[in-house]
Amino acid sequence: MDQEKGTPLQYEEKKARLVADFKEALARGATVGLGKKTSNLFRSRKQAKELIDVSDFNSVISIDEQNLRAEVEGMLTFDDFTKETLRHGLLPAVVPELKSITVGGAMAGVAIESSSFRYGLVHETVTAMEVLTGHGDVVSCLPGNEHAELFFGFPNSYGTLGYALKLTVKLVRTKKYVELKHEKFTDAKEYFQAVKKACEREDLDFVDGTVFDEHALYLTTARFVDSAPFVSKYTYMQIYYRSIPKMRVDYLTAYDYIWRWDTDWFWCSKNFGVQNRCLRAIARPWLRSTAYWQIMRWNRKHQFVERLAKFRGIDREDESVIQDVQIPVERAHEFLEFFHDRIGIKPVWICPTRPASPDRYPSYDMALGQLYLNFGFWDVLPLPAGQKEGFFNRQVEQWVDKLNGRKGLYSTVFYDEKTFWQHYNGRNYQMLKQKYDPQGKLKDLYDKAVRRQ
Ligand SMILES: Cc1cc2nc3c(=O)[nH]c(=O)nc-3n(C[C@H](O)[C@H](O)[C@H](O)COP(=O)(O)OP(=O)(O)OC[C@H]3O[C@@H](n4cnc5c(N)ncnc54)[C@H](O)[C@@H]3O)c2cc1C
Repeated sequence: MDQEKGTPLQYEEKKARLVADFKEALARGATVGLGKKTSNLFRSRKQAKELIDVSDFNSVISIDEQNLRAEVEGMLTFDDFTKETLRHGLLPAVVPELKSITVGGAMAGVAIESSSFRYGLVHETVTAMEVLTGHGDVVSCLPGNEHAELFFGFPNSYGTLGYALKLTVKLVRTKKYVELKHEKFTDAKEYFQAVKKACEREDLDFVDGTVFDEHALYLTTARFVDSAPFVSKYTYMQIYYRSIPKMRVDYLTAYDYIWRWDTDWFWCSKNFGVQNRCLRAIARPWLRSTAYWQIMRWNRKHQFVERLAKFRGIDREDESVIQDVQIPVERAHEFLEFFHDRIGIKPVWICPTRPASPDRYPSYDMALGQLYLNFGFWDVLPLPAGQKEGFFNRQVEQWVDKLNGRKGLYSTVFYDEKTFWQHYNGRNYQMLKQKYDPQGKLKDLYDKAVRRQ
């Protein structure tokens, strides 16, 4: 190891204290939940009776420059993680695009970014972890040890099998700048062919895309470079997604590249009015995903927007359609056609991913060698008269299934129980639940994801 990072309290001490607190809570018969400061979860849920405070598990423990590995604590945000690795000229192999996503959250959820065409989803870049289980024990999970089943079954478990306290993550060497090239397509089939071709190129470090509408589909290919003729900045008055149709070639620092989507939460900041230049000029401290999330949480609690609409005499029901789904590239144009026709949210984020190794992750199984395209879409749609929540999201789920795709669980889910467990390997999950949380202290995945308990 090249360098040990000092942490306010050493990991082992924190772990001993946490285990003692956790066991005490279990002895009181409490159902426990994760107590942390940030979140990117998009379904409201009932709070567990007792929250176990894990927020101080937020340090980089060590960085191994030679073997390109970092040992970090589970609640470390990717923002803090990357600040540290960049000092060494390194980055985590996949950095999800919102600054407050934590390493443990990305492992337990299913996180992705534009380097996923090469390294897979975030969990595929994790090589070891320590997990606090529902028993109150901490187990060390490796792909080849007695807890290998938990290691592979953990992605997509959303804190229902245990909490990741420490993880070892793959790093890559970086350069000072990233050169981006934006290419426009007007035909969906040609566009998806081009995405596929880009993912076969050896010289690229990043591939993603933005679909503005049926005839404006942009492919962005990017690579690390040592120098740049100019450097753009999208953290204040300039807005990254608006630059895509305007700039054929662009340059950002490596740090600004990985966080290019955070300032405007992709494009969702428009819902908070801050794409208006006047408001933007004074809203600088709030131009970040964590601020938007806090506003949404406040609104969810106080139902402010709903009350305002009622006050103004607007009596209509909305449905939040906030999802990331993955579709095999060969069927991507069919999904997009359905999507434009029946859902209509614009823009849509496209991010390719392919399993990086033959390892299988049963709760989020993806076909070996298959290139999937992640479609990310986040908005609220007015429901047609007489329709209830689920009208739009169920259609998305049906098309994901029809095209043999995969759907993440960080937001609303409408599958019935049988279909849900078919998709997420209920048999394997129940085996792990029996082994690591037999008394159900950590809730069940279906209860959490679908019943929002
Ligand atoms: C609008 C929106 C867009 C998104 N887009 C993307 C995207 O483009 N790319 C992407 O990568 N991801 C995306 N996500 C999903 C995000 O990566 C996942 O929701 C991830 O799990 C969030 O991690 P977090 O650390 O913020 O966890 P939280 O939001 O705090 O928690 C998420 C879940 O994980 C569990 N959890 C958290 N930490 C741990 C831990 N240490 N051990 C075990 N379980 C834990 C929690 O119990 C909870 O059920 C998006 C989310 C939103 C809301």
